[in-house]
Amino acid sequence: MPSPTAELVARDLAVVWHPCTQMHDHQTLPMLPIASAQGVWLHGHDGKAYLDAVSSWWTCLLGHRDPRIVAALKDQLDTLDHVMLAGFTHEPAIDLAEELVRIAPRAVGDARELRRVFYADNGSSAVEVALKLSFHYWRNIGRGERTRFIALTGGYHGETLGALSVTDVPLYRQTYAPLLLEPIFAPSPDAYACAPGETAIDCAQRALAAMRGLLERHAHEVCAVIVEPLVQCAGGMRMHHPSYLSGLRALCDDFDVHLIADEIAVGFGRTGSLFACEQGAIVPDFLCLSKGLTGGTLPLSAVLTHEQVYAAFYAEYSAGKAFLHSHSYTGNPLACRAALATLTVLREEPILERNRALAAHLAKRIAPLAAHPHIGDVRQTGMIAALELVANKSTRAPFPGSERRGLRVYRHGLERGVVLRPLGNVIYFMPPYCITPEEIDLMVEVAVEGIELALR
Ligand code: PMP
Repeated sequence: MPSPTAELVARDLAVVWHPCTQMHDHQTLPMLPIASAQGVWLHGHDGKAYLDAVSSWWTCLLGHRDPRIVAALKDQLDTLDHVMLAGFTHEPAIDLAEELVRIAPRAVGDARELRRVFYADNGSSAVEVALKLSFHYWRNIGRGERTRFIALTGGYHGETLGALSVTDVPLYRQTYAPLLLEPIFAPSPDAYACAPGETAIDCAQRALAAMRGLLERHAHEVCAVIVEPLVQCAGGMRMHHPSYLSGLRALCDDFDVHLIADEIAVGFGRTGSLFACEQGAIVPDFLCLSKGLTGGTLPLSAVLTHEQVYAAFYAEYSAGKAFLHSHSYTGNPLACRAALATLTVLREEPILERNRALAAHLAKRIAPLAAHPHIGDVRQTGMIAALELVANKSTRAPFPGSERRGLRVYRHGLERGVVLRPLGNVIYFMPPYCITPEEIDLMVEVAVEGIELALR
């Protein structure tokens, strides 16, 4: 008799095509059927528990099956499952939009208030919405010559064609390049790329100077600049100084182009503030949110913008200015209720304060790794920490990607019951906020063991 796990794996591999996976790898790499989850723990059909150190692709904010979200979902299911949001509305969509508007980033001296919420149903779709809204805004006000976007090197915004166009991670982009829009790529303020003797602030200033140069040449044809505030996540958890954000906001204003902040991965307390934009004291023209929005239970995304944008679309139907973008599950009531429950927890509990203590504990645990001969950088922003594996510490030369050393760390993690899913040579931690100091210790210990094995 095959074990229940083996049977599930065989059935899976016969029919399911997995995301972000070379399916051939599963000839040797274990596929893990998960039966249930609670808090930071995933429970396999094999009876083993796995610490979800990456919050299931950064979605699971508070921990799996948070009882408050579960209760809200059950209650919602008893009343309204779904209704299309065109021509109809419902309390969860209204309540959530009001709450998002209430907590949206504000800045002293900036009249922009993010008071309009457009829903979509995943991160990439939110980015598509923001790109289209920006382009369409300029067209509606008679500036149809603005057709391009500025994106940062090393940035990631999703994998639908528009979002992939403004993504600069070759692994995902290269193959599809012939199908994509051609954005203008500006140098990232990534502090890991600092020249010797440069500080993170210097690095940010250098990137801003380059951005100014590009805007001087291209602003007339540019709709918006898109940025992942503070941490370029999928590009390798590359971090930058908050002064880049304030400088970028000022440049976008000087050259009259929109600023799109993609906080899909970093929103809702991940970086130490509720939104990363707050650390640069900026209000973007478009704020993209998803992932942690529903606490990792259901797909949902939202794009917030201000009244000036909304007003450019508001006209008699015959003017042809409406934003006709639509997804079937826009503003799904269940997803909105899950998001409301998540935001209630963030409002009522001292989550940011608790995260500060947890982040300090994590910092203490990873600090000694800076001396490791094959760790070229130890970096952290709030509840995101990353270790950069290098072949040569003094030159920071990376290990060739083909050696797949990160994959060895992943395998070891699974053996020891910790889900680490490195991004190439970058081993990172992005755990749910309910993790305990002891679980942080375990997560780091297993990562260090995995790194030692990967170096052999
Ligand atoms: N933007 C950022 C910053 C992201 O990290 C991601 C997902 N990793 C996306 C967009 C795309 O979101 P989704 O996977 O839900 O399409």
